[in-house]
Amino acid sequence: MLRLTLSKESEEFRGRFREWLSQHQAPGYGNDASLETFVRVGREWQRSLASGGWVGVHWPSEFGGRSLSLVEEAVIQEELVRVQSPQLLGLFGLTMVGPVLIRHGTQTQKARYLSKILDASEIWCQGFSEPGAGSDLAAIKTRARAVDGGFLVSGQKVWTSFAHIADWCFVLCRTSDEEQKHKGLSYLLLDMKSKGITVRPLKQISGDEEFNEVFFEDVFVPAENVVGQVGDGWKIAISTLMYERVVLTFARQLQSEVALRALIEKCQSRADGEFKAQLAKEISRACAVRALAYEHLLNYAGGKAPGPEGSLDKLFWSESFQSIAKLSLKASGIDAARGELDPQSGSEAHRYLYSRGRSIAAGTSEIQRNIIAERILGLPKQG
Ligand SMILES: Cc1cc2nc3c(=O)[nH]c(=O)nc-3n(C[C@H](O)[C@H](O)[C@H](O)COP(=O)(O)OP(=O)(O)OC[C@H]3O[C@@H](n4cnc5c(N)ncnc54)[C@H](O)[C@@H]3O)c2cc1C
Repeated sequence: MLRLTLSKESEEFRGRFREWLSQHQAPGYGNDASLETFVRVGREWQRSLASGGWVGVHWPSEFGGRSLSLVEEAVIQEELVRVQSPQLLGLFGLTMVGPVLIRHGTQTQKARYLSKILDASEIWCQGFSEPGAGSDLAAIKTRARAVDGGFLVSGQKVWTSFAHIADWCFVLCRTSDEEQKHKGLSYLLLDMKSKGITVRPLKQISGDEEFNEVFFEDVFVPAENVVGQVGDGWKIAISTLMYERVVLTFARQLQSEVALRALIEKCQSRADGEFKAQLAKEISRACAVRALAYEHLLNYAGGKAPGPEGSLDKLFWSESFQSIAKLSLKASGIDAARGELDPQSGSEAHRYLYSRGRSIAAGTSEIQRNIIAERILGLPKQG
């Protein structure tokens, strides 16, 4: 049976964070849509949260966290949405490379990177996907050639969110040509200020300029920047994706709540029965998705690492969010077409177009269904 309430301790924790938020107002961008403002405001806000101990709360206290569970991390995300906080600038570091370094990194790597992830003094991006390797991630061709003291990285990544503002990138590279293609991969930490990197922004249909093409031409990466052993890249990449599907998806799941609240407010006076029935269906589905996500988070309370069940959360959330965004667009009628497409505007048109990419990012819905079939239901592999 699903557990729909949190423990007394988690609710007390929520109370303490609410108290802090009442004294530290979440920032906005005003009318300034510039990249500089986005980065400056984002860094300042995360630094302020970090100084209060409100980021990475599920990280062990020896690395600057509070040794709490992913449930408290989820509570933080919920409260940030409640006060309309901007998405944390360092989310990839906090939810992906940070936990991976805690689990697989050397003591030197932990000492060098973790505190700067917490206070957003260094922003990270994820260099996994390539033009010929998205769902089939093991097909990547970006190569890291061993040289004296490290590696020279050459190749191309694509859809790299935040590469245009990132200080560091965690990159999956091919270090040898094994017969089983996932065996010859390594996971490197690459300084985005290195020589030989070209970043080209890609503009999305929603108007957002979130991701980029990234070209590497003999970029030097020192040997100490390999996470785990050379050849361990696949195992570590999968562990990164599991964190992404659980924690990052939970944070994004709250976008559904914001969209639903806006829709309910807008349609208070609408008497149309069919519309109300659709709205009720979306509200029920969003509550069910959230309850399932909480159920999974509660299982990690003892420190267990995320597993394939994150694919259920990712699949259900992205499809529910798309459905809410579609209903919002329908409710706005012709007004939606007249609305702004500015990413900061929160308009229905922007939300609808943005939502389309959510069943692709962090693994497509088809890939999540494959994982659920093979790794949760134990069905035989195709082919
Ligand atoms: C908003 C957004 C942000 C992103 N940010 C990042 C980022 O920061 N870093 C990064 O590395 N990547 C990022 N990505 C890339 C994302 O991970 C890939 O787009 C995704 O994994 C799909 O890969 P692909 O685009 O190459 O599509 P393909 O893998 O070519 O898939 C094309 C179609 O075929 C289907 N398909 C493929 N294989 C199978 C199969 N085995 N069974 C059934 N159907 C299949 C897919 O479901 C899809 O419908 C981002 C994507 C988006 C949309």
